Amino acid sequence: MLLKIKKFLSSDDVSLKVNEKLTIEDEEFLKETRLDKNILLTGEILKIDDSLTFSGKIEYLVKAQCARCLEEFDKKIETKFSAGLVQNEDMESDEIQMLVTDGMIRMDEIVKQLIYLSMPMKSLCRDDCKGICPNCGVNLNEEICQCESRLTDPRFDKLKDLLK
Ligand SMILES: [Zn+2]
Ligand SMILES: [Zn+2]
Repeated sequence: MLLKIKKFLSSDDVSLKVNEKLTIEDEEFLKETRLDKNILLTGEILKIDDSLTFSGKIEYLVKAQCARCLEEFDKKIETKFSAGLVQNEDMESDEIQMLVTDGMIRMDEIVKQLIYLSMPMKSLCRDDCKGICPNCGVNLNEEICQCESRLTDPRFDKLKDLLK
């Protein structure tokens, strides 16, 4: 995952739009994170005086499991970042840094970090997911089960007793 910016660096341009499809090759990482290997990197690199700033966004798909109905689904995640482009890493700095070597940025590590930071802990397949019936285990998004009418509520037991 190399982002080539050599031409931009030697030009008088102050801005470079980035729109790149990147592929993560690290099989281990893909397996661990259940990520789709194709990610999209968009944004803009700005030259301000002597410094370079990259404001961008990565988008990726991850296989998630719904916390309510336990179905698996593809979740699209976007995460924004702002990074300083540097020739030498400054360990003292608080900002995210991307190392530029020979007019190229090696994106692998930074992209993985951004993914780790943005992975959701808990996902829902949709905001109004009805989940599964705690009684019969039916996915209530797909089926209506009969439990609710049968489930006994203590308040109704009293009523039933009265009707006897
Ligand atoms: Zn769900
Ligand atoms: Zn049920």
